Amino acid sequence: MAYTQPELPFSYDALEPYIDKETMEIHYGKHHTAYCKKFNDAVAGTKYDKKDLFDILKDIENVDEKIRTVVRNNGGGAWNHSFFWSVLCSKKESGQPGKNTSKIINDSFGSYSEFKKRFSDAATAVFGSGWAWLVLNNSRKLEIVKTANQDSTISRGLKPILVIDVWEHTYYLKYRNLRPDFIEAFFNIINWKQVEEYINS
Ligand code: MN
Repeated sequence: MAYTQPELPFSYDALEPYIDKETMEIHYGKHHTAYCKKFNDAVAGTKYDKKDLFDILKDIENVDEKIRTVVRNNGGGAWNHSFFWSVLCSKKESGQPGKNTSKIINDSFGSYSEFKKRFSDAATAVFGSGWAWLVLNNSRKLEIVKTANQDSTISRGLKPILVIDVWEHTYYLKYRNLRPDFIEAFFNIINWKQVEEYINS
């Protein structure tokens, strides 16, 4: 199998009350699982079967045209969600931005509050379904980037540090149409320790 869905690094109810248990069960168990399966089905029997998903997405424009869209959508959905779970944790474990994270946030945005405002504005402004990312660019500065559907920033040569999924399936059961309320809640459950590891790696 080309891609194995990683185990969720926390229990379904670990993100309560910010993301509810039922949403996590459906999001991980149905949506994410389906992206992984559809990606594996699409590459079965092709030369991509043995290739790393990260490397495939990095070079998405050179994937065979016949399967490029299905790989972009489902390979992206598989990888993006795995990355999303990795930057989440319970409120108790969330902590504060690490030393290097704080420094690079201040260097890039001036302050944590300015970063939070710009990231929230970008996540709010994603039209329809998509993602807002914090990425390191080639000059080791942070940037905030939006992607539509399941497009991934790794396909743009950027290194993701943090991401928020703003597809309605992430928040609709609890927050209904109020995406900004979900975005505000998200800041309580960021795994800052993992973010620091991404900054340092
Ligand atoms: Mn999702």
